[in-house]
Amino acid sequence: MFIFFSDKFSAGWSWTWQVKRAEFDKVLIEEVKRKGVAVRFNCTFTDVSCSRNEQLITYQSSEGKQVVVQSKYVIDASGYGRVLPRLFDLNIQSKLSPRGTIFTQVNDVNRTEKAGHNIFVHAFNNNTAWL
Ligand SMILES: Cc1cc2nc3c(=O)[nH]c(=O)nc-3n(C[C@H](O)[C@H](O)[C@H](O)COP(=O)(O)OP(=O)(O)OC[C@H]3O[C@@H](n4cnc5c(N)ncnc54)[C@H](O)[C@@H]3O)c2cc1C
Repeated sequence: MFIFFSDKFSAGWSWTWQVKRAEFDKVLIEEVKRKGVAVRFNCTFTDVSCSRNEQLITYQSSEGKQVVVQSKYVIDASGYGRVLPRLFDLNIQSKLSPRGTIFTQVNDVNRTEKAGHNIFVHAFNNNTAWL
């Protein structure tokens, strides 16, 4: 079965981009740095203490040092890491049934130039699984 992104069911864009995630992330962070933001890599955020006027954030630096920084706001962008929900004990067990994913990358020498013909969706096990 071929599914074309343009055969969508609602209004809006009929196209998208495919990007290499690591390169995309690098472009974004370099631009943020260029605009003057101090960026620290390989740090693990371990604690936060909040008050009305200031937030104290503790992180472990790439050299293994505990560092405390003060800020006005904290934005949690830890994705599935869910750092703030875990630190504030706000994590709620999902009511969805458990799911599993296997992710892999393949080098496919048989890709075609035909638009949309390189993405296949195949359902099996009575539609309980797909690849
Ligand atoms: C296999 C797979 C394929 C996907 N394919 C697509 C796709 O094709 N298109 C699409 O749009 N989306 C795709 N997604 C979803 C997409 O990757 C996520 O929606 C997106 O990455 C979420 O971005 P984010 O910045 O919120 O979180 P993340 O990308 O998860 O970034 C969170 C960051 O926080 C860091 N972090 C976590 N805890 C801490 C901590 N304590 N201290 C410091 N840093 C911490 C992590 O190291 C990470 O760098 C895919 C996801 C997966 C798993």
